[in-house]
Amino acid sequence: MQKKEKESNRGLTVNKEKNFSEWYSQIIEKTEILDTRLGIKGFVVIRPWGTKLIEKMYEFYEEELQKKGHEPTIMPSVIPEANLKKESGHIKGFTPEVFWLEKGKEEEKLALRPTSETLYTPMFKLWIRSHRDLPMKLYQRGSVFRYDTKATRPLIRGREFYWIETHNAFATKKEAESQVQEDIQTTENIMHQKFCIPFLPLKRPEWDKFAGAEYTIGSDVLMPDGKVIQQPSTHLMGQKFSKAFNAKFKNEKGQEKYLWTTAYGPAMSRILVSIISTHGDNRGLVLPFSISPIQIIIIPIFTAKDKNKILKYSQEIKEKLKDLRIKIDETEKRPGEKYYKWELKGVPFRLEIGKEELNNKELTIYIRDTHKKQKIKFNQLKNIPKLGKEFDNRLKKNAENFLKKNIVICKTKEQIKKTIKERKIAKTNWCSLDKNGLKCAEYVEKVTNAEIRGTFVNKKEKPTGKCVICNKPATAVVYIAKSY
Ligand SMILES: [Zn+2]
Repeated sequence: MQKKEKESNRGLTVNKEKNFSEWYSQIIEKTEILDTRLGIKGFVVIRPWGTKLIEKMYEFYEEELQKKGHEPTIMPSVIPEANLKKESGHIKGFTPEVFWLEKGKEEEKLALRPTSETLYTPMFKLWIRSHRDLPMKLYQRGSVFRYDTKATRPLIRGREFYWIETHNAFATKKEAESQVQEDIQTTENIMHQKFCIPFLPLKRPEWDKFAGAEYTIGSDVLMPDGKVIQQPSTHLMGQKFSKAFNAKFKNEKGQEKYLWTTAYGPAMSRILVSIISTHGDNRGLVLPFSISPIQIIIIPIFTAKDKNKILKYSQEIKEKLKDLRIKIDETEKRPGEKYYKWELKGVPFRLEIGKEELNNKELTIYIRDTHKKQKIKFNQLKNIPKLGKEFDNRLKKNAENFLKKNIVICKTKEQIKKTIKERKIAKTNWCSLDKNGLKCAEYVEKVTNAEIRGTFVNKKEKPTGKCVICNKPATAVVYIAKSY
């Protein structure tokens, strides 16, 4: 049965700090990011406000990837069974999650793509002849399908998600590894610098890498409830897929060699979860100036007598700021209702234009994150982009501080238990990230429900002493957290 929205019940009725889960459920629907009422388990309808946000995020990512030499492609949404089964570790990891298609079975069994290594690698084999064709850096934007059997949550854990996947081929391992590093930098440049979401780049333990990869580096973002959510990960596939598909090239000496491949997968729908959860407050969304579909909303406040003058002045302001995403709310609603609506939707700046503003050739600006109002002169409007940068810097700083203060160095089992219970990330000395450390990881998971997320990449965190669980000499410093 479909629920009709009640006017009186449009705002958030729970506190983010007290009940994050319910706050999240309310905010995604009430701000009109998405609608779950179509009722297909694991799938959502993304509404215009959410779609425009995701489009903006795609723009940032694609621009960055193209700058770094990746070229766009469009691949089929289906994968023949034979392709999917070529790399044994890959199919083993993905089998339980594959959607198989009913139609066309008698020709060749097809799967909805859960990821596209097994579409790109056979094409690399056709497109790449010699070292002169390398590197080949491709990507596609689109959705992938994974039949998740656990409880689904909109955008967090679903059966279809919207992402970019890059697939890249190189002549040497060294080049492939430097691509992995470049991917981490892309996450930094876009997710952290543009969307204001700091992260921990963590090399995953052996038992938690992507199915078919040599190693995986994930990026973990801390959610308000103390769990981490995995954001873009990058994988060194090594030569596993190229060997499975016999994808070779001729090197400078004319020798045939297998390609080295990598993949990187930023998921817009999942990053949106972090944007909503990290920056949002009890009045609604707080969207970074960089990606808000509307950066500035103008609310004209008039009586029948001065309506024309005020609307004209509002138009002048809009014209002055036409390089930004700006809109005048000319609907029949009362100004208070309009304030409320755009505040809920997270628009960074609201300009209030009334009689006083008109007479003084100024305007009142309300700033979404600080809830402060200030006056600006008409001839100072050029400062708004600068205010936008400051806005985003504040969001970034707050998120960085939150992450920093929630990482606790632990020296004993008890400390780890306590830290996880307090909904924080534990950092500790660890025996091993290969299969020898699995027993300790299972122990931690049993007593805390938390996972070994991995070691910090590119930061030399020297392990000292012994593993806090098994007392064997430590070989790594790891981060432990509950995760989505
Ligand atoms: Zn251990």
